[in-house]
Amino acid sequence: MAASDTLRIISLGGIGHIGKNMTCFEQDGEILVLDCGIMFPDEEHPGIDLIMPDMTYLYENHEKVVGVILTHGHEDHIGALPYLLEHLPLPVWGTRLTLGLVQAKFDEFNIHPDCEFHEIEPHDILTIGGFTIEPIRVNHSIPDAVGYAIRANAGIVIHSGDYKIDQTPTFGLPTDFHAFARYGAEGVLALMVDTTNCNEEGYSGSERVVEDALREIIEDAPGRVIMTTFASNIGRMQHAIDASADMGRKVVIIGRSMEQNVRVASELDRFEIPAGVRVSIDKLGDLPDRKVTILVTGSQGEPLSALSRIARGTHRDIRVHKDDTVVMSSSVIPGNEALIWKTINGLARQGAHVLYGEGYVHVTGHAKAEEVKLLVNLTRPKFAVPFHGEYRHLLAFADLAQELGMAENEVFMLAPGKVLEFRGGRAYEGKSVAGGSVNIDGLGVGDVGDVVLEDRRTLASEGIVLPVLAVRKDTCEMVAEPEIYSRGFVYVLESEELLAKIRNEAGRTAEDLCAKGISDPEQLYEQLRSRIGGYIERLTGRRPLVLPVIIPVEMP
Ligand SMILES: [Zn+2]
Ligand SMILES: [Zn+2]
Repeated sequence: MAASDTLRIISLGGIGHIGKNMTCFEQDGEILVLDCGIMFPDEEHPGIDLIMPDMTYLYENHEKVVGVILTHGHEDHIGALPYLLEHLPLPVWGTRLTLGLVQAKFDEFNIHPDCEFHEIEPHDILTIGGFTIEPIRVNHSIPDAVGYAIRANAGIVIHSGDYKIDQTPTFGLPTDFHAFARYGAEGVLALMVDTTNCNEEGYSGSERVVEDALREIIEDAPGRVIMTTFASNIGRMQHAIDASADMGRKVVIIGRSMEQNVRVASELDRFEIPAGVRVSIDKLGDLPDRKVTILVTGSQGEPLSALSRIARGTHRDIRVHKDDTVVMSSSVIPGNEALIWKTINGLARQGAHVLYGEGYVHVTGHAKAEEVKLLVNLTRPKFAVPFHGEYRHLLAFADLAQELGMAENEVFMLAPGKVLEFRGGRAYEGKSVAGGSVNIDGLGVGDVGDVVLEDRRTLASEGIVLPVLAVRKDTCEMVAEPEIYSRGFVYVLESEELLAKIRNEAGRTAEDLCAKGISDPEQLYEQLRSRIGGYIERLTGRRPLVLPVIIPVEMP
């Protein structure tokens, strides 16, 4: 049978939101998976630890899946891999540091799936099922990042990975323009492109700028330097350590994720701490302040991180000193603004000198508009699929693609579960597959759905009211006055009158139903819930969670 030239690109995540990146390529009864990431929840998801893609499609078609290729070691690209591989022991391809971080994750979960891991390098040619694949070196905020050229029967698809263009990178070589251009010359069917920053004009800027700024700060700081960055930004930590070592400073690293990444990267020759430079936290007291650099987690103001504890003055070992210089070497992830300002204010109030700002002590790892344009021009794709963006980013890309001469119907907006199908050199919207999110809360996977989340939001914002009724089992007749308990709703001691009214309403509801001869506890529950809920809203304008507790009593 001749090979079919149909290719399906299936998004399972990473489009329409930032995080949980996962894309599948399907042809001839084979599915290739690219990345398998998680997303960190926002305030819309109280209590949820992690969000991962819905992978039902892969579980249902497990015999077709030929393997997983990884672009780089960030959580939004590898974080859900343990969950996938635990069910499907697939072969995995990735660069050295990426696989090292995956391995550390498996150790942490204490799972050891029986899969093959293949270490790859740019320019390797991989054959996975019927796909021929070349990893292409790209610059990003972590070493060893790649994009991919995927040669399918329908044509070549280029996936940029998370990328930027840094002409003077401080680690490794620049993004491989030549490889992208080579495929462009041959003819590219589709380009999937990182659009995180494509609504920002200009270029992202070189890491070299930050390296120079950090060096200057560390040289001039009168006291300790306390620096935070993303725990995965290994290159950034390396600059801080090198500059500190040159100035005779000792370095302390605080924060589990940072320590783990440093350990993994050091073992794989992607990180180096000069001998004698790193000291443990208990040595801090023996050193003069100007001989100390402290690297800490907490760049997003995470309340439990070392930096926020220092800012609140509650860290076990570290207090702010008057001449401390704090460097926030990271971007503000949308949604975290309030926490970050709180951290900065807390540090400043205690006398620290706080430095932050894009283009100064931080540059982004994602391409801005001009770099996105350059990639489109180098690869000259027939079709384009923006990824790694919220809708506003995808739309910004659509505008930009039109500026470059692409037609509106040559840019496809996917979403989780949406399918783009290529047949006979043309592109169609294919039949959707299961898409969406699976919430992970503690040890439970997928047991917290929208209803539970809605309840948690209500609980957090409006509190809870528990009407407790003891009723005869046979007739639903009340055997005692109802009781009303509440938490987070009103201050009980000052709201006796209101609670008395609610108690009366609960009693009336139960009596009404009893008079109508309704003795079904479920109906009683529903009626109590809606009537008391409505009553409270009319009285107070609030909508707390109302959870009636009905105690059936056996009467002699
Ligand atoms: Zn990334
Ligand atoms: Zn990413």
